[in-house]
Amino acid sequence: MSEGLRMVEPVIRSERVIQLLADLIGFQSVNPGGTEGDAAAYVAKVMRKAGCEVELQEIEPGRPNVIARLKGAGGGRTIILNTHMDVVPAGEGWSSDPFTLLRKGERVYGRGVMDAKGPLAAMMAAVEAIAASGAHLPGDIVLAAVVDEEAASLGARNLPDNLHGDLAVIGEATAGNLAVAHRGSIRPVLAAEGVSAHSSTPHLGVNAVSLMVRTLMALEDFAEQELTKRLHPLTGQSTLSVTVINGGIKESMIPDRCEALIDRRLIPGEAEEDALQEIRQIIAGLPALGGRVRIDRLVPTTGVASETRPDHPMVELAAAAIERVYGRRPELTGLTANCDMTHFVKRGIPSVIYGPGDFSVAHTIGEWVTVSELENASRVYASIAMEVAGS
Ligand SMILES: [Zn+2]
Repeated sequence: MSEGLRMVEPVIRSERVIQLLADLIGFQSVNPGGTEGDAAAYVAKVMRKAGCEVELQEIEPGRPNVIARLKGAGGGRTIILNTHMDVVPAGEGWSSDPFTLLRKGERVYGRGVMDAKGPLAAMMAAVEAIAASGAHLPGDIVLAAVVDEEAASLGARNLPDNLHGDLAVIGEATAGNLAVAHRGSIRPVLAAEGVSAHSSTPHLGVNAVSLMVRTLMALEDFAEQELTKRLHPLTGQSTLSVTVINGGIKESMIPDRCEALIDRRLIPGEAEEDALQEIRQIIAGLPALGGRVRIDRLVPTTGVASETRPDHPMVELAAAAIERVYGRRPELTGLTANCDMTHFVKRGIPSVIYGPGDFSVAHTIGEWVTVSELENASRVYASIAMEVAGS
């Protein structure tokens, strides 16, 4: 970026970030159970007022992605700022209303203050400030606020085909560091088909719960012996856990059906189909099951794992922006959880994850983030956007 552009570096005010965040928290875009429609209309209105061209992309009825573009003069690079508008349910035990932003000293509380309405407010304030700064950048700045990240990522999966960018920054908490990799997941539901019988004569039936127990023990052995060896330097290892099980009808009946949900966490480099094939092979290798256990269906997830090479020039650009704001070099890290980065990487867009707060606070009762982190985040987003779109 030229010195001329640097002189109009945008002014970010934490009060503006907090105001946007307070409005966003008030929309109960809970997933599952609500819709992102009202939050999306608000984001669209604010971004239009800032001078963006805004497209509402209806993904499901009442659930639009917002794609707001601050057009450059032409010939420059495009930055995509992405995060999501849905939040997980509030849960019980809040000491204040989770859908009213509460400020107590340096902290703000509410469902989504960190995951991910905090990053969304910080991104919106950054775009507003750049638009107001009078910087005439050659490139475009795109804010892509999507729906459904907390369930099946319908929003990020289905962004318009013509959405291109030279860098995508995904707004999820990284505690002041820069993540360049994240894990993914698949969730197969296994079904065991038995034969019901009176439990006083169990030999006349086939016990579906017993079939499932054998299957799960074999899968856990595989996780222990094999998956623990699959290590990624930034995201940790592959895992497999049974998280839901259903079986049995009545105390005196041999159950004829049992289902178990497997949460299989993938590391970058592991393909969905390979992971499913491994599970099929383990099941096929257990003759005692008599062919009665199979993968019945897949529960949708955010997607598979992805990564960007740590030595990619865009990673250095983002790290330098964080260093300017925080006055220290960020660590390059990876998220153990899923996120929407995978859908940008799939499009060939180099992507990084950066956002305010510490990921361990996400999805908790009493979710909080500090005001200074929100301001830092907004300044980092603005700085990255100026660097990318400024040349
Ligand atoms: Zn999130």
